[in-house]
Amino acid sequence: MRKSAPWHISISLLAAVCLTLPAQAAPELPAQQIQAELETSWLELPNAQADRLERYTLWAARNPELDRETVVLQVNLDLDRTPYDNPRTVDDPSSLTVLVNKHNALPRDYVPELETLGADYGSGSLRPEAAQAFREMADAAREEGIALRSVSAYRSYSYQNALYSRYLTQYRQNTADTFSARPGHSEHQTGLALDINTASTRDHFENTPAFAWLKEHCAQYGFILRYDQGKQDITGYRFEPWHYRYVGVEIAQACMEQGLSYEEYLALGLTPQEEEAVPPAPEPETPPLFPFPIAQGKPIAL
Ligand SMILES: [Zn+2]
Repeated sequence: MRKSAPWHISISLLAAVCLTLPAQAAPELPAQQIQAELETSWLELPNAQADRLERYTLWAARNPELDRETVVLQVNLDLDRTPYDNPRTVDDPSSLTVLVNKHNALPRDYVPELETLGADYGSGSLRPEAAQAFREMADAAREEGIALRSVSAYRSYSYQNALYSRYLTQYRQNTADTFSARPGHSEHQTGLALDINTASTRDHFENTPAFAWLKEHCAQYGFILRYDQGKQDITGYRFEPWHYRYVGVEIAQACMEQGLSYEEYLALGLTPQEEEAVPPAPEPETPPLFPFPIAQGKPIAL
């Protein structure tokens, strides 16, 4: 026997359809919905950032050979952007974990709280946390016969501007950009970075006992080798064996043990324990930027 729904149910269904599919349901709406769903699907990846969904979709379309994890990682690394093209100004320049590079700038007038390193530790000033950590590191090195001295620590916006402008009189901009930051983009302006013993490739600092000591021990004091060999495509800078950045012990150990640049560490969503302990926001529409840690030691495909 042929079954049919009672009329009142049929009318209810019709009303429901009419309510959910109003007259303005033009053909483009499903496409928009598909696009929106495609974009939100990026959030299934633990290190996807809610404010970059459109960029993931665009980068995936331009690079169909990449898997989704690689798309998210590369966009998190800003590899879909041209260096210095429309950079962000960082939200919290005084954060000890602030990322400053060719895509992230400090405000022009930002000056951190500073402390002089002291005559026994070389020249310049750093943020108190970084200054204290550097002195402890230098003291420990000295006990093993290694001398570590600052040759350049905090640099103001205007100092960096003069420095970069001078390089531009000697080198083409493409070349200058591989070893000198444009003003506002220098880690030295954070007061958390310093050059140790030299700042010249001619000295081959990478072949010295001091460099070997730093590579092994810097993370214990919260410092990372910021511009390592083989990372130029990510950091934007050639190998600088003398340039160290204070990020705190936990992050420094994660970066140095896993051979990650700071950009990679952040792009993978490897946030410290205390930040993960913060309960996630209840609304699914506003997930935290890095809600879950990625398994330690996961290989990175770039
Ligand atoms: Zn430097």
